[in-house]
Amino acid sequence: MNYVILDLEWNSAYSKSAHRFVNEIIEFGAVKLDAGFNEIDSFSRLITPRVGKKLSGRVRQLTKLTNEDLAGGEDFFTVTDAFTQFLGDSVLMTWGTSDIHSLIDNYLYYTNSRTIPFLTRYCDLQEYCEKAIGEFDEGNQIGLGHFAEKIGVDFSEEEQHRAAADAYLSLKILRRVMNRYPLESCILQADCEEFYDRMLFKNFFITDLRSPEIDRAQMKFSCDQCGKQARRVKRWKLHNKNFNADFYCKNCGRRFSGRISFKRRYDGVKVNKRIVEKQEQSEKQETNDKAGE
Ligand SMILES: [Zn+2]
Repeated sequence: MNYVILDLEWNSAYSKSAHRFVNEIIEFGAVKLDAGFNEIDSFSRLITPRVGKKLSGRVRQLTKLTNEDLAGGEDFFTVTDAFTQFLGDSVLMTWGTSDIHSLIDNYLYYTNSRTIPFLTRYCDLQEYCEKAIGEFDEGNQIGLGHFAEKIGVDFSEEEQHRAAADAYLSLKILRRVMNRYPLESCILQADCEEFYDRMLFKNFFITDLRSPEIDRAQMKFSCDQCGKQARRVKRWKLHNKNFNADFYCKNCGRRFSGRISFKRRYDGVKVNKRIVEKQEQSEKQETNDKAGE
């Protein structure tokens, strides 16, 4: 099995015909690997933009690309056709899913379909590498450069933020953490609607206690001092997407606040619960009230 690590650069531009901003892809950079993650080929192409004729200052600064550079590029479909050949039946890898979102956005713009035609199997390298070092947290994703620093992989800041350089940096990171976690578990079948539903799903917090997706059994709290089940003594109150209520442990006399949130993700509901001191709770409430004045 081969792998291709892909990185894209894009420029956000307003399309008058589509009445929306498009993250127009301006560069493909990729490296192809064999089963042992040895490099066997590479790919680097510039795309001449159609929507945004001029690069935004931020993109020019970040990528050091100029409008003249891009004028010498190729058409989006010429590049994607060549990339399709390059990819073959390899597993596509990107650092985080923003490149996938950008591809979906470009195909939607050009073809009115969200399908990325060359994609059959996909691995989010960010998720894989975070899991490999035991620091996977959806709410706190680690950027490429930050991750490299974190595990002591050298890179020069000047080389970064160009597609091929970012793909190679991802490879250095992958080589460092591979074998620490089963890669297979992070590879998704991507030639199906389910993949796109998953990619485009927007997580949200459930804020209605009557939602059938809330498991009421989760809302019981045990005393953190004696382990016995505590009794809720006040109504649940919603505050910043968390439900809070006061609890009392009859066994040891401890009073505390229970805090719980329900985050709906594509795969189901993630429950986050913890015990906070009652004081901390009321102080926070007070600060927030003051801030609101
Ligand atoms: Zn107790």
